[in-house]
Amino acid sequence: MSTSAVPVPTFTRTVLGRPRIGPHRELKRALERYWSGATDRAELLGVAAGLARTDRAAMVAAGLDSVPVGTPLYDHVLDTAVLFGAVPERFTGITDDLDRTFAMARGTADVPPLEMTKWFDTNYHYLVPEIGPATAFSLHAEALLTEVAAAVAEGVPARPVVVGPVSLLLLAKAPLGGTAAPLDRLDDLLPHYVALLSALAAAGAAWVQLDEPALTLDVDDTVRAATRRAYDLLTSADDRPAVLVATYFGDAGPVLPDLLATRIDGVALDLVSGAAPDAGLDWAGRLVVAGVVDGRNIWRTDPDRALELLAALRDRVGSPVAVSTSCSLLHVPYTLVGEAGLDPQLRSWLAFADEKVAEVADLATALGGAAVPALDGARAALADRRSTTRVHQPQVRSRVAGLREEAFRRGDEAHRRMVQGTRWELPPLPTTTIGSFPQTTALRAARAELRAGTLDRPGYDARMKAEIADVIALQEDIGLDVLVHGEPERNDMVQYFAEQLGGFATTAQGWVQSYGSRCVRPPVLFGDVHRTGPMTVGWAAYAQSLTTRPVKGMLTGPVTILAWSFVRDDQPLATTALQVALAIRDETVDLQNAGIGIIQVDEPALRELLPPRRSDRAAYLDWAVRAFRLATSGVSAATAVHTHLCYSEFGEIIDAIADLGADVTSVEAARSAMELLDDLAGVGYTRGIGPGVYDIHSPRVPSVAEIRALIDRAVAAVDPRRLWVNPDCGLKTRTPAEVEPALRHMVAAAVAARSELKIRR
Ligand code: GLN
Ligand code: ZN
Repeated sequence: MSTSAVPVPTFTRTVLGRPRIGPHRELKRALERYWSGATDRAELLGVAAGLARTDRAAMVAAGLDSVPVGTPLYDHVLDTAVLFGAVPERFTGITDDLDRTFAMARGTADVPPLEMTKWFDTNYHYLVPEIGPATAFSLHAEALLTEVAAAVAEGVPARPVVVGPVSLLLLAKAPLGGTAAPLDRLDDLLPHYVALLSALAAAGAAWVQLDEPALTLDVDDTVRAATRRAYDLLTSADDRPAVLVATYFGDAGPVLPDLLATRIDGVALDLVSGAAPDAGLDWAGRLVVAGVVDGRNIWRTDPDRALELLAALRDRVGSPVAVSTSCSLLHVPYTLVGEAGLDPQLRSWLAFADEKVAEVADLATALGGAAVPALDGARAALADRRSTTRVHQPQVRSRVAGLREEAFRRGDEAHRRMVQGTRWELPPLPTTTIGSFPQTTALRAARAELRAGTLDRPGYDARMKAEIADVIALQEDIGLDVLVHGEPERNDMVQYFAEQLGGFATTAQGWVQSYGSRCVRPPVLFGDVHRTGPMTVGWAAYAQSLTTRPVKGMLTGPVTILAWSFVRDDQPLATTALQVALAIRDETVDLQNAGIGIIQVDEPALRELLPPRRSDRAAYLDWAVRAFRLATSGVSAATAVHTHLCYSEFGEIIDAIADLGADVTSVEAARSAMELLDDLAGVGYTRGIGPGVYDIHSPRVPSVAEIRALIDRAVAAVDPRRLWVNPDCGLKTRTPAEVEPALRHMVAAAVAARSELKIRR
């Protein structure tokens, strides 16, 4: 318990955080206007403060008795780094604090930004703080204190939220050239947290929430000791709010004894992805904030399961229990209110952020012993979802149940190589691209007109066909060997398929922040997935009809489709993956029958879905690889299966990449050296490989000599008969003016390298 003389005020219902981009993406627009110079600081801050005020009021109105406060403009990890003065040297010349923070997020003409990476295994991305021996910590709490003061003045039971010291340091990296672990700086950082807590108490905060999601990763003794040291010190002073340590995204079991050995006042536990705490821990009356409402997915909570869990937890810990979300609601859209277009039955199964806040309040009321009629609605919706044929399709289920091992295997590799090799007269070092060509404003406009009804379907199709014809002609003129149709018809590589597959729905306003001002609208995978008809065949066949060169069909793989969607919580992901894989498999067979002899199945998300905890990884890689193999093993030996992975550091998934069994794998390599070729050889990968030799992430047009140098390195590293020459990702984000000369240089470099090779394919 707190040693404070003031008794710790308790609470019964809360959420760990809210979406913050605005219900209509108001903050996104305000940020982009500010960056473009169209508005000033006052207007941007005004929009942000207004959104925060509305959200606080909504949470209070919904009955929450503790309300998270703290609205980052760009990213919460960046904000916490800035809060403690962890600003790398290269940004310190920028005097305006807002512009300095945005420079850290986005870079300027002169300085590169902080690195951005995935926030655990979610689709949110955070900025990686750079913390080294030279980082001079200092406290800059003005913005947070202003927000807290505003909330307190409104009578809101404000609970400021800041990333905790252990997670902040574990998520940080050493500055370029440094090797010391950021965690080594813990003792220098802690006094500033102590000062922050004191300032927050003075501003009227009764509680503070310190987010420590990193404590649910694989923790070693160093991390456990750091946790103990940090929270001993943070709770040693009297002038502080009650401290809630929020763990989420997994099980905090291993560090609970350390946390409870300190004087912290409460712990938030993720009971959706983690287990209930061991019995026998001494909670000593401290608050357990029980995350029973899933903060990362969009399903309505099963009230009976949640109440059972809460009651069992209360018995076990013998301490007060508050109801909460498993993590921040940052990962779900704002509200179902704008989703009039969703089928009412499906809609009745869903809960977005506002609906989840109401669920928390209802569950807390029910836990308190009162009758809550609203929960009967949830029970009825759940019963409907469990039994309806909209979700459960017997023919899909029996097809999955009847799968035999042959369905996961293609023919002998040497045989495949032989028949594919004689099918096309490809030169050595064949050139190709990754699939998309620039998504021009004209293409986007056509899609918008189709949606608005000002362009009809035949008119839209005609525009897409004209684009495909242009792209084919351009590729022939450039001299590429394996062509693509350019993907002009695809808004997004997952949504395009979700819109056509049975078992998926798409939302109108279901935006979720991906990073900064960037939002995505993940499809909702609600039922047994099945294909209702060909999805890409018409476009691919049309493209092939225009040329005698092979056109590569282009599909998104099952793992990536799952990774970028809201997925079912009522069956294992592995099962859902097999259903999606069968739909993709049917598409590959149709492509083959339509005369497409090379099919690329993209899996850029294969690595990002890798579970953060080591013990979960083998099971994940097993189902992920099986799903890919199922999707790609329906075609004959003469059909070449390609795959594309958007990275070059395979690390722990290197064996899995080899196990995918693709005939050709293209990877990102233009930026890094070609070491991965060695790594792949090390795990026995003997098939085709296309290390990217043109970095499409930069607007620069690489010269023939630069590309040639990369090709030569690849030729030196692997048998050139296995090498392909391609850019390192799709071209959709580039302009036609950049792409055409770059591809011409790439082909020229390949042709030159080829003429010096003494091999024939
Ligand atoms: N085929 C896709 C494209 O070219 C692949 C995109 C990706 O790897 N993310 O755009
Ligand atoms: Zn890519």
